[in-house]
Amino acid sequence: MIQLPAGVQLQEKTLAFLAKPQQLFIGGDWVDPKEGQYFSSLNPANGETIAEVPLATALDVNQAVAAARKAFQSQWYPKVNPATRSQLIHKLADLMQRDLQVFMELETLDNGKPLNKAKYDVLGAINHFRYYAGWATKIEGSTIPVDGSKLVYTLREPLGVVGLIVPWNFPLMMAAWKLAPALACGNCCVLKPAEQTPLTALYLCKLIQEAGFPEGVVNVVTGPGLPTGEAITQQMDIDKVSFTGSTVVGRKIMSAAANSNLKKVSLELGGKSPNVIFADADLKAVSQSALWSSFYNTGQECTLGSRLYVERPIYDEFLVKLKEQAEQLSIGNGLNNPDLGPVVSQKQLDRVLHYIELGQKEGAELITGGERCGGDLDEGYFLSPTIFGHSNDDLQIVQEEIFGPVVVVSAFDESEEAIRRANNTRYGLAAAVWTKDISKAHRFAQATQAGTVWINGYDLFDPAVPFGGHKESGIGAEMGKSAIDLYTQEKSVWVNLT
Ligand code: NAP
Ligand code: MG
Repeated sequence: MIQLPAGVQLQEKTLAFLAKPQQLFIGGDWVDPKEGQYFSSLNPANGETIAEVPLATALDVNQAVAAARKAFQSQWYPKVNPATRSQLIHKLADLMQRDLQVFMELETLDNGKPLNKAKYDVLGAINHFRYYAGWATKIEGSTIPVDGSKLVYTLREPLGVVGLIVPWNFPLMMAAWKLAPALACGNCCVLKPAEQTPLTALYLCKLIQEAGFPEGVVNVVTGPGLPTGEAITQQMDIDKVSFTGSTVVGRKIMSAAANSNLKKVSLELGGKSPNVIFADADLKAVSQSALWSSFYNTGQECTLGSRLYVERPIYDEFLVKLKEQAEQLSIGNGLNNPDLGPVVSQKQLDRVLHYIELGQKEGAELITGGERCGGDLDEGYFLSPTIFGHSNDDLQIVQEEIFGPVVVVSAFDESEEAIRRANNTRYGLAAAVWTKDISKAHRFAQATQAGTVWINGYDLFDPAVPFGGHKESGIGAEMGKSAIDLYTQEKSVWVNLT
């Protein structure tokens, strides 16, 4: 029996899903792992095991890849025409909308995030499927004028079998960012969710079955990076790996691809994004936004503005306000819809606490937070929102991605300094600038080394807008038309007309 906070009830479908043993989804069937191993998926709000999940080894991954290859060759591309692919993806989105509440509950139980934030994720995932359902019928090649005696055209074709490896911070949404364009382009998929959060990916497979996708078009293998993720990256019959996660693991993925079949690789990696606030900004808008861009998803989001730079004249006032707001955030079991849930695991809790200790040792000023929350929250992985003030960008807490509710804040004196310090990082995922001066804003956007820049806003996303990391934050951009390039390859065809 799942432990629930007083007064909370789960949907029948959620309970039924959790009550049955979990299996791998391979070739359209639910199967047990070949080597019979399982691992526990925990609820970070109380450390309780919510499901025993199959641990896929290389044997299972190979089986999934074989099923995907068979489906690609005989059941999917080009047999199923683009309009039908589009309809199937739309159907999946319809079914997800029907089971919205189930997805929200599973995501909250597995990841810890508040239900209303999980709702935002599930709706975002649905939106993503719909956006790419529209693309399925619009993937075109071109004709290229060359010598008059030749006709040259290009075909844009799917890659074949793609391995999709996703993290635990937005489990369903990250899976959707990859599955939706991969399927729209006509690929077959082997998806590995993170070991901390496998449940929504498994539930999604039920709907993939119900929607009527041919067997083997989508396969899900659950398990940790080792052995499951690694088996995907080393597999000789996977054409591409699309990975979202840390920069450390991103390097391993590239290396495994290079040492196996040179599969194509796209990477969405870590970040340490600067959020730069000039004294002439709309401070009311800034103050609400800065709170969420520091602590949303309990700080476990790659794009968060985890480095705040504030122009000196407003620095003190800004900091007092941010501290006050941070201290008012409610923290608790996601099923009770607090502002912030727990961090995802004991490991993550330890990692964040380590950085908090390090920040103090390095000489940063702890302004608020920095502690595991006590009282009746003792069982879960709860942390108070933490703010450090500093004036040294070389500190490890300023340079390294912490991935928890920790923001570092510093004052700056002039524009050029703000740009230089914003770029003083090996990451390049996102950046934001707040000012009413449009020239200053656009100059900042041009000078910033980041895949996305927000002006007078933060964390704005739409499936139509490309998103990817510069520098060590990634290779290739997802979303928008960019993802079509990630999941297709071009073929040039020459016709000799003479
Ligand atoms: P992670 O440790 O890099 O893991 C990501 C995924 O890779 C998980 O499924 C993980 O499996 C798997 N994995 C681990 N080792 C592997 C290996 N040797 N070979 C193949 N797969 C392997 O990242 P995380 O801690 O889950 O997520 C947080 C990170 O993701 C942060 O750095 C964050 O910035 C980044 N992120 C980036 C974006 C973006 O769009 N740029 C979006 C979200 C998150 P297990 O964890 O199951 O072992
Ligand atoms: Mg979990």
